[in-house]
Amino acid sequence: METSDDTITYLLKLGELTLKGGNRAGFEIILKRNLAARFKGTGAQITTSNGRFYVRCSPGAGGRVEEVLDKIMGISGWARTRVSGKTREELLKALVETAGEWAQRGLETFKVEARRTDKSFPMDSYQIRKEGGQAILDSIPLLKVDVHNPQVLIEAEIREKAYVYGMEKKGRRGLPSGTAGRGLLLLSGGIDSPVAGYMMISRGMGIDSVYFHAYPYTSDEARKKVVRLAEIVGSYSMGMRLYTIGFTAVQMRIKEKAPLAWTTVLLRMAMMECAEKIAKMRRYKCLVSGESLSQVASQTIENISCTESRITIPVLRPLIGMDKEQIIRTAESIGTYETSILPYADCCVLFSPPHPVLRGNPEEAGALYEQLELPGLIEQAIREAAVEKCSYPATGNAPST
Ligand code: ATP
Ligand code: MG
Repeated sequence: METSDDTITYLLKLGELTLKGGNRAGFEIILKRNLAARFKGTGAQITTSNGRFYVRCSPGAGGRVEEVLDKIMGISGWARTRVSGKTREELLKALVETAGEWAQRGLETFKVEARRTDKSFPMDSYQIRKEGGQAILDSIPLLKVDVHNPQVLIEAEIREKAYVYGMEKKGRRGLPSGTAGRGLLLLSGGIDSPVAGYMMISRGMGIDSVYFHAYPYTSDEARKKVVRLAEIVGSYSMGMRLYTIGFTAVQMRIKEKAPLAWTTVLLRMAMMECAEKIAKMRRYKCLVSGESLSQVASQTIENISCTESRITIPVLRPLIGMDKEQIIRTAESIGTYETSILPYADCCVLFSPPHPVLRGNPEEAGALYEQLELPGLIEQAIREAAVEKCSYPATGNAPST
């Protein structure tokens, strides 16, 4: 491992991955592959040892590397570290330098924590904590020790080298993308479905999306907004494939033939049927939607039952028990909220009835749906689908076509 001054080293901690027993090696391989794909073009190198990942890069690439570490699923924390030789003097020097950096940023209290994998190192963990703390106090009189609630935890890990770092950043935790199969998200331009996609990504699922638009009743701006949302959500994973389906003919048929109160539920049923067909063709294991129980009329338990009554593939609804405030907070924190609230109507807004059915019965819904004779229109919409890859291209996670 290089220790030259112009190389930056980051140490990554793996969080939940460490709980995965026998599967752990496989999870680590996927995480490493995901990192490598995301670091493409930065020159960053990844090495692994004893449950730790190390990333080394040039200072110029640090910004991009940190952006990836901020977004990637499967790490519980990361820190830029000093890499020092394994003598007492070198270790104490690295501890003092690290503490000095934090003191410059205005922090006042610290604690030294030590872990020693290499038992041949001349100091044990207790000695590192004690002598390291003393060395820092001697060199930087402004700093004080606080063992209970330190502002900075300065950590030393003695492994093949000595690694010293202060106060790591939190990772997103979760599981690496690609460890939980692939799902197809019904992505609208709203607030909810991007959050639903993010939540499944955080459980290791590879997510691609299908968007139904009703051009010219919905604008090209509305479509671009969905592309942007796909880019943002895909940035937490390995990018996202977006299937855009023209649903105008289906909507017109529903408008012509169905009782007004039923139009929204029937449209949802058509969307689910169409999405299931794509999922079966492209081998997605489930659908994902942004439904949240009773948030709107089409999301009562009865109407949700209608919506999924004609399909057999599982539909995951990660927001089902969340309230709108929680969903909005997540949308803000993942960066989709600003885009979601842009004022371009999606197809459902244009066709929503003033007094929708609140507690639909799946049998009645099925009978009404049959009368619409949609299969031909849906087949045609799928044949004419536009497919695009949003954000990070060319990764091992891309679905087979
Ligand atoms: P969102 O904020 O995700 O649009 P919503 O609260 O507006 O959700 P609905 O409009 O009832 O709820 O939609 C419920 C779910 O159906 C959405 O979360 C999404 O998964 C899917 N959906 C709705 N409209 C579309 C669309 N035009 N294209 C793809 N999926 C859609
Ligand atoms: Mg919506």
